[in-house]
Amino acid sequence: MPLIVFVLVLLCLFAFALSSTWESDLTYYGDYGDYGIPLLGGDPPPRRGNCAWVGTAQPDNPFSGWPVNYHPGDWNTITSWFCDPTYFKGYTHWGIDIGRLNWNESIYNKEAVVTAEDVVVMRASCCSGFNSGMGNNVMVQALDCETVDEALVGEDLDGNGVIEKDDIEICEETGWFAIYMHLLDVTVVAGDRLKRGDVIGHIDNTGNSTGDHLHYQINGPNGAIDPAPSMAGNYDDALRDEWKGQR
Ligand SMILES: [Zn+2]
Repeated sequence: MPLIVFVLVLLCLFAFALSSTWESDLTYYGDYGDYGIPLLGGDPPPRRGNCAWVGTAQPDNPFSGWPVNYHPGDWNTITSWFCDPTYFKGYTHWGIDIGRLNWNESIYNKEAVVTAEDVVVMRASCCSGFNSGMGNNVMVQALDCETVDEALVGEDLDGNGVIEKDDIEICEETGWFAIYMHLLDVTVVAGDRLKRGDVIGHIDNTGNSTGDHLHYQINGPNGAIDPAPSMAGNYDDALRDEWKGQR
């Protein structure tokens, strides 16, 4: 790389080393920029998106899998799709709703889980307030993480000793967010680093909601996308027509 870039990288690492303590063998840093940490519970839900993306898998989307430990891959649990035309008149539904499978079951208190390899909690709002309709809610941002360049291994960055190989994990923001709404409780706090499958809270009916369900929303750099194609490998556009006629 050009020398000036190399010097800048070293300066950044040095500044970071001065301001941090190495608490474990895995260290993380990130710059949350304009997004801010923590966001307040009253902040409005991320809006906008493109309903032309219905049924479209987005290749850059780092989120995948079922966001709640409840009948994963069973599309009969979907009570409202992304951009559902039968959603409340005058509103565009920028997420997907997962509710109980049938009258004999309840989705109440089921676990909502992380659906990307590495995320940081941007907002964890609990346990009161309408929060612009979101109720108790969590927003996480997917991170793109890698271990330190081997070229830096052996540098005494923190002055406390030589860093050994794979001691440092460096993560960058991706600009991709997953939002969970209407939760019962929130089991994380802003700034938490989480991995796929970690529980962020449990399902309820808080905020603007008429029954126990999870509103799961994925926002990319260009707005909300359709989460469905990334949620399970058995997704098919025909599901919308077969089950709800909601296309
Ligand atoms: Zn919803």
